[in-house]
Amino acid sequence: MKHYNDIKKYTTALLLFTIIVVGCNAQNKPNKKKTMDTLNKKNNLVYSTTDASKVMLAEDEWKKILSPEVYEVARQKGTERPWSSKFESFKEVGTYYCAACGNALFKSDTKFESGCGWPSFYESISKSAIIYTPDNTHGMQRTEVQCGRCKSHLGHVFEDGPKPTGLRYCINGVVLDFEKAQAAEKKYNEK
Ligand SMILES: [Zn+2]
Repeated sequence: MKHYNDIKKYTTALLLFTIIVVGCNAQNKPNKKKTMDTLNKKNNLVYSTTDASKVMLAEDEWKKILSPEVYEVARQKGTERPWSSKFESFKEVGTYYCAACGNALFKSDTKFESGCGWPSFYESISKSAIIYTPDNTHGMQRTEVQCGRCKSHLGHVFEDGPKPTGLRYCINGVVLDFEKAQAAEKKYNEK
């Protein structure tokens, strides 16, 4: 009988241990966001991957239509935690859009692994896709990159990137939406 009780104790302890370990792991997993999350865009009437007209909204309007995570980076110039974006090591072929307004920003064939912890590109999809502004905050001289359509903060561009441009666009993944090549091409041809 004593032997049976020991087994029971051991099993209970093992079960508890498993629950704790599994529970902790579940908590530490980064939040997986769906690509091209149109569900979150229901209230965002300025979001369009085909309309190129400039978007100018008051900050309180942005706050209403963006998720808190996107708002923090796009409108408050926040920075997401390094290695927190699923786009950091993402390798699908397609196009990256501004998550605030839908403006096309980067093509996947200009994406590279910089090791900096944020999705990195060496070239924007077009000259007008991005606005460049000197940023001297935090005791650094950097160049901020903003969306060319809605002026949302995207990240920074540095001159230590690979050929042919030598540029490294270091972009917060939370302000990017991704669309796979086939769907993106179809939309482009319909224009
Ligand atoms: Zn935008």
